[in-house]
Amino acid sequence: MYWNGLSDHLKAQYGAKVYKLALSSGCTCPNRDGTLGSRGCIFCDGSGAFAQAGDIRGQMAAARARVSAKAGKDALYIAYFQSFTNTYGAIPRLRELYFAAMEPEDVVAVSVATRPDCLGAEVMELLMELNRHKPVWVELGLQTIHPATAAYIRRGYGLAVYDAAVARLKAAGMQVVVHQILGLPGEDRRMMAQTARYIGSSGADGIKFHLLHVLRGTDLAEKWQAGEVEVLSLEAYIAALEDCVRSLPRSVVIHRLTGDGAKRDLLSPLWSGDKKRVLGAIHAAFLRDDVEQGSALRKGH
Ligand code: SF4
Repeated sequence: MYWNGLSDHLKAQYGAKVYKLALSSGCTCPNRDGTLGSRGCIFCDGSGAFAQAGDIRGQMAAARARVSAKAGKDALYIAYFQSFTNTYGAIPRLRELYFAAMEPEDVVAVSVATRPDCLGAEVMELLMELNRHKPVWVELGLQTIHPATAAYIRRGYGLAVYDAAVARLKAAGMQVVVHQILGLPGEDRRMMAQTARYIGSSGADGIKFHLLHVLRGTDLAEKWQAGEVEVLSLEAYIAALEDCVRSLPRSVVIHRLTGDGAKRDLLSPLWSGDKKRVLGAIHAAFLRDDVEQGSALRKGH
């Protein structure tokens, strides 16, 4: 069994445990503010889970407090702007925010979650400037390579936009982490593995796998309540995940094997609310099935 997990990767790189500090830039999203749409992606509840907006130093102190029970005094941190589209705002404000977040010595990198269509010239300049001080990771929510699914979830940009963004980010020396959702309506295991394989060959340095979960108040919830969409069982999720891991080059770092759902608003699947149990089941299955990252590529499948 082998997969290239983030925590081992960071430990080898920094010689210490590295924790994420979940922060909010207070940006909205073109898929929500009326530019591309007003209802967002069908699964997005618009709550911007985890981080609360506000003064960045206060946010960092609160985020440190959240991980303080686990993190020792030698721990290192990544400032992680997680919710919404964190490059979708006025450049001077973002500049101040990101520099303040990377200032503490024990912050080793800044991670910025955004959309590939929100990386204009000015934002790229800013990210490159930041990257000269400390490594910048840019996280892109691709979710799928399949056009029909992308239209169904109302992602709002095409695959060519993703490809161009990855090429620019890599040329500028940044780390690219791509999100994929497993269990999107209409997708089978083969399609999910195709997306993982594409991400792996696109130049991405890392990947985050998420399960499609239904959150209260989303358009997906209405479709699920009407019986139009189904969610994966734990077994089906793990089977799809195994295919995807086998379809990724070994150099791609796996940041997540499953997402962190907002438990309070979770409608389905309820098994996903017990993250500890889910991760335990994934690890046991990987061991049982002797999952080797990249094995499907080696066999030329
Ligand atoms: S792009 Fe992200 S923040 Fe915007 S609607 Fe979609 S999931 Fe929500």
